[in-house]
Amino acid sequence: MKRGFYIGRFQPYHNGHQSVLEHIAGKVDEIIIGIGSAQLSHQVDNPFTAGERVLMITRALASLECPFYVIPIEDIQRNALWVAHVRSMAPPFETCYSSNPLVIQLFRESGIKVQSPALYERETLSGTEIRRRMLAGEPWEELVPQPVVRVLREIKGKERLLQIARND
Ligand code: NAD
Repeated sequence: MKRGFYIGRFQPYHNGHQSVLEHIAGKVDEIIIGIGSAQLSHQVDNPFTAGERVLMITRALASLECPFYVIPIEDIQRNALWVAHVRSMAPPFETCYSSNPLVIQLFRESGIKVQSPALYERETLSGTEIRRRMLAGEPWEELVPQPVVRVLREIKGKERLLQIARND
């Protein structure tokens, strides 16, 4: 059984993440998706809870052919121990897929194979840009899969972001 691991903060999950996962689906038998910084929510850079991110990913990948697991993973204080922490939380896997330089470095140092998928439209397909658009009242919906638009509406994600970004 060939399993691939993909980690992100997914604040929120967007079309770039979706394209990468569709690509990984063609390479492995099962995918493990780690929701990083699972302990963070209700911050301008990290507005959504781990549970809400589980919902976005699960719904967006409902028709993916490849089986997948979504595992929330809290951050730890020591980068040098982080890969062991990840491995203690996830089903066994042989390849990590990431384009995040720190993630790549930590996995390589632990002797795990890393593949870096291409970035899709990085200027617009980024959590930072989507949160910026939400705060600015600009259209953001085209940057995320339709099921994610529905989840964000259901949880009133934009309204939360606007409220927590306010000054008192
Ligand atoms: P992210 O949501 O920004 O990105 C997830 C992945 O998708 C990355 O590989 C990124 O390169 C890729 N991606 C982003 N936009 C893309 C696009 N347009 N096209 C294609 N791919 C795209 O999340 P991240 O910041 O990479 O998440 C890493 C997580 O690991 C964080 O939660 C971080 O805290 C955690 N971490 C924790 C520790 C620790 O606890 N000590 C150490 C290292 C990493």
